[in-house]
Amino acid sequence: MSLDEIKSRINAAEQAAGRAVGSVRLIAVSKVQPNERVEAVLNQGHRCFGENRVQEAAGKWPAFRERFDGLDLHLIGPLQTNKARQAMELCDVIHSLDRLKLANTFARLAQERGGCPDLFIQVNTGEEPQKAGILPADADRFIANCLDMDLPVQGLMCIPPADEEPSLHFALLAKIATRNGLAGLSMGMSSDFESAIALGATHIRVGSAIFGPRVAS
Ligand SMILES: *Cc1c(COP(=O)(O)O)cnc(C)c1O
Repeated sequence: MSLDEIKSRINAAEQAAGRAVGSVRLIAVSKVQPNERVEAVLNQGHRCFGENRVQEAAGKWPAFRERFDGLDLHLIGPLQTNKARQAMELCDVIHSLDRLKLANTFARLAQERGGCPDLFIQVNTGEEPQKAGILPADADRFIANCLDMDLPVQGLMCIPPADEEPSLHFALLAKIATRNGLAGLSMGMSSDFESAIALGATHIRVGSAIFGPRVAS
């Protein structure tokens, strides 16, 4: 599917939900994609991208930043505390704030560097043991802790369980965000971004539908 087709599907979903056209941010997830495919999307004028791993982002995006203005790079994958500094230097937005230790590290580094990327708190809406994220029952307290630390928390992020109806998880995430006064909702991927938009997504993370299947590495 082309970038233009995805954009028109996003616009249609925005309209169907009674939302302003252009209000949803499309993060093109370029992880594991060959540079030629990423470059083709850059050449079509798209500037907002997502990466899963700090290492991969570090190998790919500094060179693109030299050639393309206005890049907006989002880290959407799990972040080790010892890579937090590098992630803050590379990325404009980090969607995987998922534990207190990482929040403390961001707060300390934000002081030291004089700034912090915008943050999304990852919530493990499916309560899956193998998945990162704050449990729904702990979310209110964790959000309050992060805001007390003056972290720039913009919203919440989730990755629904593969075998469940994603809209239940999108609705739960939206409910937690609303009651905590957070406006941002990072939810929806290639197979379910339209239902995420219907439930209030402000940021959707779409990879394979734009770039084609990920090449095995
Ligand atoms: C890979 C990935 C995506 C994109 O997945 P697609 O199904 O290719 O759209 C979205 N979010 C996260 C956290 C990912 O790791």
